[in-house]
Amino acid sequence: MAREKLRLNAPAKINWALTVCGRRSDGYHQLQSLMQTISLCDQVELSRSAADSCRCCPEVSCPPQQNLAWRAWELMRRRYALPGGLAIEIRKAIPSGGGLGGGSADAAAVLRGVNELFELNLNRSQLAELGFQLGADVPFLVHGGFALVGGAGETVQPLTAAEYPLLIAAPAAGLSTAAVFAAYDRLPPAAVIPDPEELRAALLAQDRAAIAAQLVNMLEPAALPLCPQIAAAKDIFLRWGLPALMSGSGSCVFALSDGDRQREEAAIAALSAAGISCWRTHTLV
Ligand code: ATP
Repeated sequence: MAREKLRLNAPAKINWALTVCGRRSDGYHQLQSLMQTISLCDQVELSRSAADSCRCCPEVSCPPQQNLAWRAWELMRRRYALPGGLAIEIRKAIPSGGGLGGGSADAAAVLRGVNELFELNLNRSQLAELGFQLGADVPFLVHGGFALVGGAGETVQPLTAAEYPLLIAAPAAGLSTAAVFAAYDRLPPAAVIPDPEELRAALLAQDRAAIAAQLVNMLEPAALPLCPQIAAAKDIFLRWGLPALMSGSGSCVFALSDGDRQREEAAIAALSAAGISCWRTHTLV
């Protein structure tokens, strides 16, 4: 019998590597990224109902009809002529404007959930293809795990992953992805575009020194002047021996932990003294 209600985790992502390889004729930036989902997640509850609704707790800055979760439902309903309405309840834990793909994670959860609730039997690739209409991070977040993501986000090549303990620092203010790409476009063009292959191999081999040496985010120099707490968070992590990188278009910074609780506590206390929130999390495989 068809289900009436479904609860889903909507995990955030980090970008171990993010390189901008150029600009496409459709205006999108051509990207290459090693992405992995993490245990920090929103909770999404979907219930079949007479009318549509979308509630976020705490609230996000856009109206319900512009919420990516609602837009994911609208897309599915139109495409598959689905009957009735959907009530969407989101308990947000992923910081907004953090470069952790919070809105996209919720959209990906709705795509997966509606597929199940309405017994559409679509596979992950079909859902990912649909999801690309909603945002560049949605196809990867439909798959989850660890992947090499290319194009403008539509090419997802799943890879074998390992579980890593992480700390995530969230500056007091988020950043707009559009503003960061605009700032990136004003920078002089990069002389070298790093190849993420060595980092992929280091992540698989769990070679911490090689991982630390290969972390790269080409958007970081563009975001730093927009949010000084990014550099502050990186400095604190590095001072405590934790390799750190901005995720996506910022403003969150993740650090690769070695699981040493004392070191983690010291970094978390220093971040808190600087007005920066910090959570423990880990990558998902
Ligand atoms: P990305 O890196 O994918 O561009 P982000 O992680 O930096 O995004 P989000 O948390 O996705 O940022 O939020 C960006 C904006 O998207 C928010 O300011 C909000 O107005 C809008 N938004 C739409 N739907 C959601 C949602 N479900 N959760 C959070 N923000 C949402």
